[in-house]
Amino acid sequence: MRNYFSKFAAKIKHMKLSGLHNGESAIIVKLHGHGGFRKRITEMGFVRGRKVTSILNSPLKDPVKYSIMGYEVSLRHSEAEMIEVLYESEADELIEAISAGDKHGYGSHHSIHDEYAVRQTSGQHSCANEYPEKQKGRHRHKPDKDLAYRKNVINIALAGNPNSGKTSLFNALSGKSEHVGNYSGVTVDAKTGHFNYKGYHFNITDLPGTYSLSVYSPEERYVRRHIFEQMPDVIIDTVVASNIERNLYLTTELIDLNPRMVVALNMYDELQASGAKLDYKKLGGMIGVPMIPTVAKNKKGLDILLDTVIDIFENRNKIARHIHIYYGTVSEPEITTLNEMIRRSNDVPQQFPARYWAIKLLEHDKEIETLLSHCSDYNKWKKFAGKAAERIEHQTNEDIETVISDAKYGFIEGALKETYTEGTIDSNKKTRYIDGLVTNKWLGFPIFILLMWIMFMATFYLGAYPQEWIELGVEKLSDFISGNMPEGPFKDLLVNGIIGGVGSVIVFLPNILILYLFISFMEDSGYMARAAFIMDKIMHKMGLHGKSFIPLIMGFGCNVPAIMATRTIESHSSRLITILINPFMSCSARIPVFVLLAGTFFPNHAGTVLISMYILGIIIAILTAKVFRKTYFKKEETPFVMELPPYRMPTLNATLKHMWDKGEQYLKKMGGIILVASVIIWFLSYYPQNFPHNKASKTAQTTMAATQDANHATVISSGNNTGQSFEDSFLGQIGKCCEPVMRPLGLNWKATVALLSGTAAKEIVVSTLGVLYKNENEATLSKTLITSEDFTQRSALAFMVFILLYFPCIAALAAIRNEAGWKWALFSAIYSTAVAWVAGFAVYTITGFF
Ligand code: GDP
Ligand code: MG
Repeated sequence: MRNYFSKFAAKIKHMKLSGLHNGESAIIVKLHGHGGFRKRITEMGFVRGRKVTSILNSPLKDPVKYSIMGYEVSLRHSEAEMIEVLYESEADELIEAISAGDKHGYGSHHSIHDEYAVRQTSGQHSCANEYPEKQKGRHRHKPDKDLAYRKNVINIALAGNPNSGKTSLFNALSGKSEHVGNYSGVTVDAKTGHFNYKGYHFNITDLPGTYSLSVYSPEERYVRRHIFEQMPDVIIDTVVASNIERNLYLTTELIDLNPRMVVALNMYDELQASGAKLDYKKLGGMIGVPMIPTVAKNKKGLDILLDTVIDIFENRNKIARHIHIYYGTVSEPEITTLNEMIRRSNDVPQQFPARYWAIKLLEHDKEIETLLSHCSDYNKWKKFAGKAAERIEHQTNEDIETVISDAKYGFIEGALKETYTEGTIDSNKKTRYIDGLVTNKWLGFPIFILLMWIMFMATFYLGAYPQEWIELGVEKLSDFISGNMPEGPFKDLLVNGIIGGVGSVIVFLPNILILYLFISFMEDSGYMARAAFIMDKIMHKMGLHGKSFIPLIMGFGCNVPAIMATRTIESHSSRLITILINPFMSCSARIPVFVLLAGTFFPNHAGTVLISMYILGIIIAILTAKVFRKTYFKKEETPFVMELPPYRMPTLNATLKHMWDKGEQYLKKMGGIILVASVIIWFLSYYPQNFPHNKASKTAQTTMAATQDANHATVISSGNNTGQSFEDSFLGQIGKCCEPVMRPLGLNWKATVALLSGTAAKEIVVSTLGVLYKNENEATLSKTLITSEDFTQRSALAFMVFILLYFPCIAALAAIRNEAGWKWALFSAIYSTAVAWVAGFAVYTITGFF
């Protein structure tokens, strides 16, 4: 059947999906491109024989929104070029031709998959055989004394597609969230919550959303590793009932793992609203996984879901059994042979069934290969798998991963054919209407810019009020301690080191919460995907992803939440580049420095100078991104393909929780590092101290309070009180040592010390200058700077450029470390400082010619 199809298809001139005009539909014939690309695009539903409709172009023409399997997805033009299609009419002709030449008389293009249909769903293994084996494996890891305790403890893992309602389900079940787990290199979060139900204690983990369990994204690796290492007792697979076909793909991946599993048929309300009918009991019976309709948003169906989880846990469930997905006549014998080989081994990990290892070895799954490489027979398996895969690819004329995923979709299609009737009510009307506006050629960008503008206004103007209160609180607290404690290093440490340092973190919390409120809303409602959709073409020119835009814009506010916001970018390299260029986006902490210097040395062109700084930052960011793309990250490993989920009104509760989760992370992760850094800088500016401590500390502090960013500033404001003593401090000495390095930029030791202290937070540069030039407020500081003749216009400009680009502040570095690891944080610090020096030197030298 497939051969017929290929033969006839070859006669018709093939068209690329990218050639499809808006509104036209076509049938997919073939996928080109490298393995990772094909795999990713397949799991999103781009499978041979499938109908795809081009819906609309983004305002800049690229990417394009397509509809497939009843949901919407965006693809770049270059990616759509990799997909060969036929017009429906051509495909119909083809089918007819095939039917004529084929006794079986397949009636529609869907039947291309019939050979994989559900005849194989009669399960071979029942849970009775499988579970005791698994239990054995489990106990090997847990000591026996845990047994009594563990008897009534059920560990649940929540797996599912992005936007399938996992977090809603998690929140509805557990109430409160705790514990955020990190994962090497890229942070992928998995929250764990706890609750009791019918005498059982549940630990529930909200895993990151994935479309499958391959090794192409950190999330997918994380989910599979979590299942392998933590061995949850029961997996709840959240499946979007209203988009069941694609969602079941992950389910088939999970079925291969043979875990104890239940499907939460979430968003069942949407399925009902569409008028579709699903015989979920029958479907559950076919796939051997009980299915329970839920509406996580309204907490419906959760009791039955939990009852089922308990039944499965206690091995009482009648439906749960292990089935084998049939991978076709060509692959099955190979899988079976390899499976037998692996089963005979006694050192193969028991967490997953041998058949799973066999399938993954055939697919050349790198991670599984590493995992099994210690097995004594590994080389034998590997050799066999390599040959077998070649044989399969040769016979099917298709690469092995496509063969496997085609079979999975075939299996799903077969199962749904018997249990699912499509609805007649167009439930996507609302989504299409909104998309018509927000991705409109003319309105798309204005709406986007308006939303960004509102977000920023709210963040910085509304946020300024609570920010002031917190500043005041921090100030009151340090005043109180100042007034009630004897003078000495301990008091100074407490007031200027600890309170100042921690205060500098808390003070940004309101802004961050407001920013995250907007972002959470945009993410949960589905608008974020559209923002990425319309911005993709511009960002792609820089070698980035549409989703990189929001974090970059956020960087103008504060780089810390901006760097944290890169988590929505799936592509590893795009995400890293976005993180690394973020510090070049001039954050608001740099404003006081620029205002002081531009106002002092360019009184008539202060505005121009300020804007130039922003533009220079953007240019350096773009250049850096391009250089990275050309050198280190040569290729984008994940295709752009991105689901455009239907718009859903998030509940206020969910959005607030989402916002708070992020705010909490900010506090936890930044708090520690800032504290340590503040104490170090305090130490360096306070010691060695061989002079009597005087009351100037109070004065210096008032100076700081006068500037807007008092809290940051207090970190070092008063340690050593006067310019003279500051000069003697370690910081001053280091500044003098480093002076020769900064000489070529026309900067003296005082500027160098200011830069050094600015590594904690850039606005501290102002307060340090204030201390060094013995000034109590900015107005007089400005005069002193001029009369001191330490700066010229040229060196002031170089100074500003240096401040713009050098060393991201410690909080931003901490964020980079959290998101990408120490290596990249270190790299960022060195790289940005080097760029700053070169740029500063260039500015100083070039302006010398005028
Ligand atoms: P996650 O990405 O899988 O964690 O999904 P979320 O829990 O963040 O949910 C995505 C969106 O779907 C949110 O706007 C939810 O309010 C919404 N949602 C969740 N469950 C349901 C449901 O059962 N019905 C409907 N209509 N919407 C839901
Ligand atoms: Mg979630």
